[in-house]
Amino acid sequence: MFYIYWDGRIQKYILSFIKDENKNKYRYVIVDEQGTKHKICDLEYFKIKEKYSKEFNPNKPKTFYRTTSSNDIAANVNDGNTKYRIIYADGRIAEWGIHDKYYDTKLADPYTWRVFGVNNNEVDLLRMPDSINEQYGNFRIEYSFHNSKRRYANPCLFAAMLGSLAVYSKARITTGSAFQWGSCFPSVLHINGMAIDFEYRSLISKDNYHPHTSQQYQDDSDFLNAMLLFFDQVRVGKDAHFAEFRQRSRVVNGGTLHNSHFHADFSLSKIEEIKE
Ligand SMILES: [Zn+2]
Repeated sequence: MFYIYWDGRIQKYILSFIKDENKNKYRYVIVDEQGTKHKICDLEYFKIKEKYSKEFNPNKPKTFYRTTSSNDIAANVNDGNTKYRIIYADGRIAEWGIHDKYYDTKLADPYTWRVFGVNNNEVDLLRMPDSINEQYGNFRIEYSFHNSKRRYANPCLFAAMLGSLAVYSKARITTGSAFQWGSCFPSVLHINGMAIDFEYRSLISKDNYHPHTSQQYQDDSDFLNAMLLFFDQVRVGKDAHFAEFRQRSRVVNGGTLHNSHFHADFSLSKIEEIKE
């Protein structure tokens, strides 16, 4: 069970007794400014082998990696930028598809491979609800996904996401975190569902933004401050539009990649574990 506080604290209660039907579930509760508790949702989680970035091979053919045993599974997919995936029996994941930086249709091999290796740790993952659109007392939580099949995240990160959305209390669009194996092609920044992306409201089209006097910019500014309560750091773009954001503590220049979206990195050190 997670208690998420208005000031950014997140407590994870490890209950000594859990009913069988709640064994693999986390409950998310937001404690508002007045101390009133609001149940947001119960979500089922599961364990995966922890992933790490093992190999990166841009502009290589589909046959560059192959299955090596009959227990490996290879399939064509249409998961965002990922076009083909091999799930190895030992837990490794190889993903092949469009990497914005290396994709060039003039090349014989426009596509890129990434391999996510596994270590011996197990980590939790859950599927985030497709959307929430609800008023709770005097705050609201409203988000939906856009253009993303990366709908899985670490359960603690999801607590930080709910806290940020509650403090902000307006609608936000997320472009997701990780796939169900903890992989996240084309990125490596979302491994094990430990980071999440949100679209800017002040973005009109590529490198074209609403002015700093606009409501859209004010909304992005407010949401950034809400995220900074719960997340370790937030990456924004290198465009001059973000100059003031980058001066805030724990906001970093994420380069041109983040001219199109906020990227929030979570750290488990944010979680205060309480055994009951
Ligand atoms: Zn990201």
